[in-house]
Amino acid sequence: MYVSPELDKRLAALQVPSAAVIDGKLVQALDGATFDVISPRNGALLSKAPACGVQDVDRAVAAARAAFEDGRWRAQAPRDKKAVMLRLAELMEAHIDELALLESLDSGKPIGDARGVDMRLAIQSVRWYAEALDKVYGEVGPSPDSRFSYAVHEPLGVIGAITPWNFPLHMAMWKVAPALAMGNSVVLKPAEQAPLSCMRVAELALEAGLPPGVFNVVTGFGVPAGEALARHMDVDMIAFTGSGGVGRALMKYSGESNLKRVSLELGGKSPQIVFDDCPDLQAAAEAAAWGVFFNQGEVCTSASRLLVQETIKDRFIDMVVEVARTIQVGDPLDPATRYGAMISERQMQTALRFIDETRAAGLEPRLGGNRVMAETGGFYVEPTIFENVKPDSLLAREEVFGPVLGVMTFKTADEALRLANDTIYGLASGLWTADLDRAMTMAKRLRAGLVWVNGWDACDITMPFGGFKQSGFGRDRSLHALHKYADLKSVSFTLRAS
Ligand code: NAP
Repeated sequence: MYVSPELDKRLAALQVPSAAVIDGKLVQALDGATFDVISPRNGALLSKAPACGVQDVDRAVAAARAAFEDGRWRAQAPRDKKAVMLRLAELMEAHIDELALLESLDSGKPIGDARGVDMRLAIQSVRWYAEALDKVYGEVGPSPDSRFSYAVHEPLGVIGAITPWNFPLHMAMWKVAPALAMGNSVVLKPAEQAPLSCMRVAELALEAGLPPGVFNVVTGFGVPAGEALARHMDVDMIAFTGSGGVGRALMKYSGESNLKRVSLELGGKSPQIVFDDCPDLQAAAEAAAWGVFFNQGEVCTSASRLLVQETIKDRFIDMVVEVARTIQVGDPLDPATRYGAMISERQMQTALRFIDETRAAGLEPRLGGNRVMAETGGFYVEPTIFENVKPDSLLAREEVFGPVLGVMTFKTADEALRLANDTIYGLASGLWTADLDRAMTMAKRLRAGLVWVNGWDACDITMPFGGFKQSGFGRDRSLHALHKYADLKSVSFTLRAS
C-alpha cells in the first residue's frame, strides 16, 4: 500500500464523523445502535455511525417540518438564502482535502478523483443552485380585465433524499442543493456503505448559517431508516438515486402512505456505438475504456455495452484493450492511482459472479477477470473485457455496476440502433461517427435520457440528467431539477370595476 509521511500526517489529523445531524445537533440514534463504516481500501473500520431507526427518522422529519412551517429558511429573502448556500460552497472548498480523503477512504475511489471530480462537482452543484435561486420567476396569466392571475413556484415542504454510495456526496448534492435552493427542508439518508462525506457536509452547512432542522442527515440502513422516510406521512417527496428494486419499493411506500412524489434515478446498461467512419478512433478507444472503468465501473451511466461496426472490430478492440491495460489497479490513497477499490465485498462478489457466469457460458476475458490485491484486505477487481458477447446473455442485459465490459458487433446503423435500444434501461448512450445525418437520426431514435455524440459523459450541471424507461423518471441537474422541488400555484384575483 502507498505510504508517505504526508499521508500519515493527514490520516492522523482526520476527524472521522460519527454522528447523525438532526435539528442542528450532532446526535446518536435514540436506541444507541451503530453500524460499522468500513473502508474498501483495506477492510479497516473507519467509524461507528448511528444506525438511525424509525424514531430517529420521525424526529428528523419533525425538525424539518417545523423549520419549513416557521419559515426560518423558506421565508428568507432569496439573496439571503443565496449567501448561505454560497458560504456552504466556500466552506466545502476550504475543506476539500479533508472531504476528498473521507470520500476516498469510505468509497475506495482514487483520491485524485475524489478531489478533482466528486468534490469539485458537489461544490459546483451547491454554487450553481445558490446562483439560480434568485432567478426563479413566476408567470402572469393572459386574464381578462376583470381578473388578474399569476402562477408561482412554491417549495414542496419536506424532501426525503435517499442516495447511493458510488458518488456519495456528489449524488447527494444533486438533490440537496436544488431542494434547499427552492426553500424546502431536507432529510437525507445516505447509503450506509459511504455516509461520511454527507455527515461532514451537514456539519459545515450549520457553520455556513443554514438554520437548524433545514438539512438533516439520518445515517443507517435502507430498512428501517430509508423505508421509514419513504413511508412517512409528513414527507412531501422522495428524491432517490439507486437500484430499480428499491425504486419500485419507494413507489409502493408512496402509494401505501401519503402519495408523496417520487423521483427515481435508477440504473443503466448504456451502449457506446462506434461506426467505421469514427472521426477519432483513439479518442473513441479512450472513451470506451474509461466510459466503463472510471470509478471501478460503479457508475449508473457506465458504458458497459460496446457496439463496434464489424469492419473495424479487430483494430478497434485492440485499441480499447491497449488503453484498458494502462489502467493500473492501485491504493486509492496513492495520488497516482486512477482506479481503486470497489465499494464492498458484496459488490466485488457481484462483479466476479458476472465474470464467472460469462466464462461458464463459454467466453474467456480478453483482459482481466480477477480479484487482485486481496492481501490488502480490500476489494479490488481488474478491468475486464469480454468480446463476442451475445445480445441475449446475462452480461449484455443486466447491470453489473462493476468493471466488466461486453463487446458486440453490428453491420448497419439499423442493427446498431436495435441492439442499443434492446434493453429495459434508457439512461445514457453514445455514438461515434463523422456522418452528421446519421448522428442526428440516431440521436433522435436512441431511447435514452442522455445521448453523447463523439464524446462520452460530455455534459455538465447545465443539462438535465436522468433516464427513459426503467432508468427512472425526474431529472437532476439544470433548472429542471429546481422546478422538481416546487409546486406551481395559480392565484386569481377577481377585480371589481372601480
Ligand atoms: P440501492 O441498493 O438501491 O441503495 C440506494 C439507497 O437506497 C441507499 O441509501 C439504500 O440504503 C437505500 N435503500 C435500500 N433499501 C431501501 C428501502 N427498502 N427503502 C428505502 N431506502 C432503501 O442502490 P446502491 O446499491 O446504493 O446503488 C447502485 C444502484 O444505483 C445501481 O443500480 C446504479 O445504477 C444506481 N445509480 C443510479 C444513478 C443515476 O443517477 N441514475 C446514479 C448512481 C447510481 P442502504 O445502502 O443503507 O441499504
